[in-house]
Amino acid sequence: MAKNSQSIQAIRGMHDVLPDKSSLWGYVENHIKSVLSAYGYQEIRLPIVEKTALFKRAIGEVTDIVEKEMYTFDDRNGDSLTLRPEGTAGCLRACIEHGLLYNQVHRLWYLGAMFRHERPQKGRYRQFYQLGVETYGMASADIDTELITLATRLWKNLGIDNKLQLQLNSLGTQEERSVYREKLVDYFNGHLDQLDEDSLRRLKSNPLRILDTKNPAMKTVVENAPTLMAYLGDDSRAHFQNLTDNLDNLGIAYHLNPRLVRGLDYYGKTVFEWVTDELGAQGTVCAGGRYDGLIEQLGGKNNYAIGFALGMERLLSLVELLDNVPVEASVDAYMIRVGAAAEKQGLLFSEKIRDQLPHVKLQVNCNDGSFKSQFKKADKSGAQFALIIGEDEAENLQVAVKFLRQNLPQKIMSHDAAINLLSTHL
Ligand code: ATP
Ligand code: MG
Repeated sequence: MAKNSQSIQAIRGMHDVLPDKSSLWGYVENHIKSVLSAYGYQEIRLPIVEKTALFKRAIGEVTDIVEKEMYTFDDRNGDSLTLRPEGTAGCLRACIEHGLLYNQVHRLWYLGAMFRHERPQKGRYRQFYQLGVETYGMASADIDTELITLATRLWKNLGIDNKLQLQLNSLGTQEERSVYREKLVDYFNGHLDQLDEDSLRRLKSNPLRILDTKNPAMKTVVENAPTLMAYLGDDSRAHFQNLTDNLDNLGIAYHLNPRLVRGLDYYGKTVFEWVTDELGAQGTVCAGGRYDGLIEQLGGKNNYAIGFALGMERLLSLVELLDNVPVEASVDAYMIRVGAAAEKQGLLFSEKIRDQLPHVKLQVNCNDGSFKSQFKKADKSGAQFALIIGEDEAENLQVAVKFLRQNLPQKIMSHDAAINLLSTHL
């Protein structure tokens, strides 16, 4: 049979999380879950694939995501499907489909893989993970405040609050935006020579997005553009004022950024982002806003919605910058067995330990080898204790316990005494 010796590699921009990193993921995820539960949020689990039409309708036809970033394919029935590029559309689709939005209030979260066909670089991948937090049915700025407070608490708990800056803006209502849009188009039409190719295109399709340009050559023209704040009506203005009053009361710092527009079309009123200057070009870690209008747009009854999405890889990169990144040992105790009788007895003893001390992480050496080679593995495992059974110990129903991280003498004892010792130390 012909053999192809070349190994198959992962898809560009899609990464493995190897065991040496997965414990950090677990650590961050545990913090996330405990903060979410402290605010009474519930998990919702959603499909990874949705009908393409959902994203086109929700995110908007002339956004970067829909225009050029989606993984779209026809399935065997000829239906156009898409790997989710974000979670808000699917979450809302599910809530409308299952009637969760009638006279109800919801606080939801999901954590999972998203897919965008972008140019892979640090902090920008083709498969990446987002925590999405979405709330429905609440009009007042108190829920806007709650989401910001919740995220701020998470940054504090992870010890990265001094690395992130909160930026805030209001996008007003659709009507307010359309008045502003005309002013903005007038302004940019007077400065066409300063716009890049992308912005010239956006000028026709989605002029607000020009404000979000990352092109340094356009800095001045964007900075001098009229801002939306001046075109907000009373209601939008009051909502925003309530939010900033609340944040002032809670002592949460923010920076008003009149050019913050977000890349998705569904936002209105409050928008916010946490940015850092410690991760290079990909500095937005978490972003969100209000999207009241989207529910109707997806076929539901007019209602209120606000949420945010947090990029997990960027969050982890920030946590990794800390001086003492917490790592949890995966093994507490390591069992060494030499000789046929010891091997048999060791298996029984290891199960007895797991029966009585279910919290202890016990690894049993399953490659036979000399004491010396097994000791090396015990040391490498990171365990605190080696439990050693040789011929003599097996014969006497005993075990030798060695402290691997402390300079103490090795002790021979009964199985029960060893269990006692483990339970006092672990
Ligand atoms: P950016 O301006 O960085 O492209 P975006 O506006 O497209 O971000 P959102 O759709 O709002 O981002 O997603 C929310 C968060 O998800 C981002 O702030 C970021 O942390 C993360 N994120 C978005 N796209 C990627 C990606 N391709 N790889 C890794 N993380 C991403
Ligand atoms: Mg993007």
